[in-house]
Amino acid sequence: MAEAPVFDAHADSIGRALDLGHDLGRSGPGHLDLERGRQGGLGAWVVVCWVDPVLYRDRPFERASAMLDATRDLARRHPARFRLVRNGRELAQAQADGCIAGIPGMEGGHPLEGSLEKLQHFFERGLRVLTLVWNNHLPWVRSCRPEAPAGTPAGLSDFGRQVVRELNRLGVVVDLSHAGDRSFYDALETSTQPVIASHSGCRSLHDHPRNLDDPQLRALADQGGVCGIVFYPSFLDAEACAEDNRLRDTPGFRALRAESEAELFLERQRYLTRESTPLPAARLVQHIEHAVEVAGIDHVGLGSDFDGIECGPQWIEDASCYPILAELLVQRGFGIDDVRKVLGGNMRRVFEQVTAR
Ligand SMILES: [Zn+2]
Repeated sequence: MAEAPVFDAHADSIGRALDLGHDLGRSGPGHLDLERGRQGGLGAWVVVCWVDPVLYRDRPFERASAMLDATRDLARRHPARFRLVRNGRELAQAQADGCIAGIPGMEGGHPLEGSLEKLQHFFERGLRVLTLVWNNHLPWVRSCRPEAPAGTPAGLSDFGRQVVRELNRLGVVVDLSHAGDRSFYDALETSTQPVIASHSGCRSLHDHPRNLDDPQLRALADQGGVCGIVFYPSFLDAEACAEDNRLRDTPGFRALRAESEAELFLERQRYLTRESTPLPAARLVQHIEHAVEVAGIDHVGLGSDFDGIECGPQWIEDASCYPILAELLVQRGFGIDDVRKVLGGNMRRVFEQVTAR
């Protein structure tokens, strides 16, 4: 599989570099760094800037900018191994030069602070994937979470539609993971480009609001888009979800303390990785198989959510493990070309198409 680079549409690891000063050029704690990415055949990584909406309530734009700075800093420190790319041509060149291609992404539109000028600013600084909304509802887009403040639109507001049109115009991939169902269809209806759900599972296998149901998978595919299947056990499996909720309520989990939010997250990663019943990797494969069955082989990819989640399924523990997933797909009867599409080809196609300006 060495010649089939992986495209991971969603991984959060850059927060470790910014908040803890970790050099992601070296293996360390957490799930993804350049070393383990290389071992796992990672060819393209959407470097997600996620801004905690509570911690940075008053300055999401500033925080997102700092995360973009950290992403650029990683590229500056490791020019032979990691390069930021703006389009399909640059992505292909980076991979040909043996670099992991970094694609700046943003999870949630709150750092736009309601301004298309700020979107333009982020675009100029390299942004190429925008997840419209995270779990916090915005005045212009409803998230998939149940309670929303008064005044939240049912789906996208007029401004929300303007954001989608502007993303199309600039050449930024629209990502609908975390979006409410109505927001999902409003965005699809508005977008003239294929869209992705960067890190979601299949609702028909686990009825969770973060997953897509079959009509959503078909609608995404009809427009040429791709669903990146997430590695998070809580989204893949009802029992794993129940156990995770239970573990978060134990005295051991509640007693975890650390100097910073970023350290605390690593503590939680260690705790839940140790205490959880490992979810068989076959469950992840089932979600991929179901999505392929419903959406077609050209419309399924990967979005691990590494370092945004505490642990992945058994054997798929970090960014060195994508080849194990490839092997499991082969064992289930996927042909080599189909494995390549799921591991990277499909996401790369959408990225190339949307960013070709
Ligand atoms: Zn997410």
